[in-house]
Amino acid sequence: DPVCVDVVVIGAGISGLAAAHELQQLTNNKLDVIVLEAKERIGGRLCGKTLPAANGTDEWDLGGQWVSSSQVYVLQLLEEFGLGTFPQFSDGEKKLMVYDASDIRKYNGLYPSLGVFELLDLHLIIKKVDKMAAQIPLSSPASTKLASKWDSITLQTFIDQSSHCKSTADVLALAMRTVFGAEPSQISFFYFLYYCALSGGLNRLADHDTGDAQELRVQETASTLPQKLKDKIGAPRVKCNQPVVSIKQTNSGSCVITSKDGTTYQAQFVIIAIPPHLVNQISFSPELPVDRRRLGDRMPVGHLIKFIATYKSAFWKNAGASGETTTVLKPCSTGPLCVTMDATSFKGNPALVGFIGGEHATYWTHKSVAERQEAVVESLVSMLGQEASNQLVHYEDKDWGLEPYNGGCPVSVMQPGCLLYFHHALREPFGRVHWAGTETARIWTGYIDGAVEAGQRAANEVVQLCKNTNKNNNAETCTVQTSTTVSPAFKISNLGHTSKKKITATRAIKGICILGVLCGAGYMSYKYLKPQ
Ligand code: FAD
Repeated sequence: DPVCVDVVVIGAGISGLAAAHELQQLTNNKLDVIVLEAKERIGGRLCGKTLPAANGTDEWDLGGQWVSSSQVYVLQLLEEFGLGTFPQFSDGEKKLMVYDASDIRKYNGLYPSLGVFELLDLHLIIKKVDKMAAQIPLSSPASTKLASKWDSITLQTFIDQSSHCKSTADVLALAMRTVFGAEPSQISFFYFLYYCALSGGLNRLADHDTGDAQELRVQETASTLPQKLKDKIGAPRVKCNQPVVSIKQTNSGSCVITSKDGTTYQAQFVIIAIPPHLVNQISFSPELPVDRRRLGDRMPVGHLIKFIATYKSAFWKNAGASGETTTVLKPCSTGPLCVTMDATSFKGNPALVGFIGGEHATYWTHKSVAERQEAVVESLVSMLGQEASNQLVHYEDKDWGLEPYNGGCPVSVMQPGCLLYFHHALREPFGRVHWAGTETARIWTGYIDGAVEAGQRAANEVVQLCKNTNKNNNAETCTVQTSTTVSPAFKISNLGHTSKKKITATRAIKGICILGVLCGAGYMSYKYLKPQ
């Protein structure tokens, strides 16, 4: 006999758990909810681990870790569970390695130490991207005036067309590799613009200033949040090792959900909170609408390998460095590093966090952990000194490309033609099936915040339908009394804009560049136009 409940949520990532929690909150626990998770653990792309540290052991995130003051959904949830945040450490010198260890540049500001023309190039591209992104109506991107033009090219094509210096193009590609875990050649330019728009601009994605994606860390690690949610929902309601293989919607108005081991569940509604590329692995009856299926086919997932290196002391801080390094390496075999940052725990155990993404992940996934560790430490030694090797306590990495029921991370991206033609299917309910997961978010998609927003939105859709069913006195389904405050307003206002600090920095760069151009022009006129 099937297990009968009101709602089945598929996927115990932060989005599915936030959906289940919201369903309970909105109905004063009157809805009977079950969460089915394929893996033996909850959390999905949030995943913590205890590692050897300077002082015994400590906890680090091997999945998502940063939150931001502009991310109201996740902050609210953290507050509800009494989980504090602290700022990402970023004071001091940063290092940029360009192509090989013979060219390591130091910088202190917000932008890498490129030449004047390269900086101007970078600045103009960022400006151009933000201007284009601002033209996209967030709720209906396909109605953007230049949608078909922008969705016919990849991000790489845009970079090639817009950048005038090779290193600018390479630095941009590197940043995107870390943000998406994918090469710019694998991402639709239109989707990239839309993604920037959903988080308040390009700088927001790559930086750690106020409101930026890497601004804050969670004191007890971000992976504590799914556990707290599970406890609140009720541990027996969250069932692991239950990969869903089929969903059948019956004529009598219910859904029959079957997991791999043959267990069946019957529910009035289903919320699917798994990445889009995995949806097509589930068999649907009736068949999934063709546009939803095509959407999944056109949203491949990125590939990141994330590492944590714990140290005896924060030797980089002692030397006046922030621990931030950026590495533009070609070819990938030269080294695995893309970006590192300080990851010293809230308890004070020193560590660095780093990412190997895109084509670097494609190459280094075939190497052993020991080989990756050796190459990572070698790169760190060239940038931060011999202590990066001497003081190492432990190296740990997680290759998300090998993670079952994720197959990559941090996010699924859209290929050209997908946003324009199939975006409408992303959140459109399919009968009694509703959609959550960060990829369906209306704000900060790809991030923890987006995952929470999407889960809460899907829960609200279902509760609203239960309310309507009650109103129509349709005896067949939910008989749940919902609380009056069903739909919290969609909070987009907090996205904010580029900080004053950043505006001053970009203006200074612009000023320096204009001065450079004027001096150059003056010199040339003097040289060539002076009377002989
Ligand atoms: P998921 O976490 O992927 O959850 C989906 C769940 O569904 C999984 O548990 C999966 O096992 C399960 N599932 C799949 N198929 C089935 C099935 N058939 N049946 C049942 N269950 C199934 N975000 C930030 O905001 N800040 C960061 O610093 C950040 N850094 C990141 C770094 C890394 C290395 C990674 C991996 C991600 C990072 N992210 C970050 C992204 C963030 O972690 C995700 O956006 C978020 O966790 C996604 O949550 P989700 O619930 O939508 O999806």
